[in-house]
Amino acid sequence: MSARKKLLHWLETERDRQLEFLRAFTRIDTCNPPGDTTEAADFFGRFLDAEGIAHRTEAPQASMPNLISTFAGAKRGPHLVLNGHLDVFPVGERSAWTRDPLSAEIVDGRVHGRGTVDMKCGTTALLFAYAYLHRLRDELPGRVTLTVVSDEETGGKWGADWLVNKCAGEVMGDCMLNTEPSGLQTIRFGEKSMLWVRFRIAVQGGHSAYPHTGGSANKVAAALIGDLVKIEEMVPDEPEVVRRMLDRPEVQKAADQSLGAGAAQVIRRVSVNIGVMQGGVKINMLPAECTLDVDFRLPVGITRAAVMDAVAAIAERHPGVRFEELLAGGPEANWCDPTHEMMEHLARNAAEALGYRPQPIVSLGGTDTRFWRVKGMPAFVYGPSPKGMGAPDEAVSVAEFQHVLRVHTLAASDYLMARK
Ligand SMILES: [Zn+2]
Repeated sequence: MSARKKLLHWLETERDRQLEFLRAFTRIDTCNPPGDTTEAADFFGRFLDAEGIAHRTEAPQASMPNLISTFAGAKRGPHLVLNGHLDVFPVGERSAWTRDPLSAEIVDGRVHGRGTVDMKCGTTALLFAYAYLHRLRDELPGRVTLTVVSDEETGGKWGADWLVNKCAGEVMGDCMLNTEPSGLQTIRFGEKSMLWVRFRIAVQGGHSAYPHTGGSANKVAAALIGDLVKIEEMVPDEPEVVRRMLDRPEVQKAADQSLGAGAAQVIRRVSVNIGVMQGGVKINMLPAECTLDVDFRLPVGITRAAVMDAVAAIAERHPGVRFEELLAGGPEANWCDPTHEMMEHLARNAAEALGYRPQPIVSLGGTDTRFWRVKGMPAFVYGPSPKGMGAPDEAVSVAEFQHVLRVHTLAASDYLMARK
């Protein structure tokens, strides 16, 4: 039997086992905060034990273990790294849920529970893909490493960020696959950067009947906002290969279809969100202070420094404005080559099942793949529909779970086998 036939056989015949694993994982509470993933990491470890696969954990925070497992194939070849996370969003308002957020009940072809979409479905898929590839290790060239991390929902300091810096020898490779929810129509080869800035406006203030004496921090804020939103007009200097890909009509169509009309444009420009605005204490007092928390999302081709320069120039034009970057030192918008061979392996295998090809786009939100991309490693994200993630009644389609598992398993195998 060919390697591909064997993989297809396991993918088919072990469907119950795959689904039961996803359901059992869903029943384990990994909400972050607090982000305790010890039980889930043990659960993954026991699966690998049962498959006879060695693994270890790296736990800079005891309650947030990161699981690493690796195996070498039969001969030299590329090093493929698989990455998913264990922790999930908090449940939020429990009364907004129709059923227990940890129920893992299957209703209308969907597994229900917090984190099923983001990303218990995807992390489970990568675990099985890894196990199936391991069974073929005597035929496969290269190396495969599985990284199952914690602390993704709160920034990755003790998870992916830790691994790429402290365990680079193990977790840096030639290419990465990740299964965060992307929607089946798109494959993510990059993502926008998040830049948070806090503005504090301080003026003298006073009685509202005497506006000529004290000024108004809120009026300064209003004028400031008017200027800040103009940052959305900055034109990105996109690398040629990215520009050409994002110019394609079929790519723009897929972005709009999977992320909502207008998404293809949002991908390519700065977005400015005035997330928090607080100023003034009383209706008949001139507000002496106002604070704005602003969330900028930067596309590929616009650096954090360029936006901070624009912010500084704007702030200078308004009285009493100071600002500071929150989360300073964050990563730039990142990308890898959208014409990389892995893109073709993913798109071809997906198209075989879907009847259409998913298109390469840049992600609006962030994933752990940025930690690898900023260090120069190509990383691709393909996962289930993001619909409902982080919301009450989160539920993932069983069919999409099986599709994602199949596509990643086959794309990984094709990528390694291409070197035979
Ligand atoms: Zn996620």
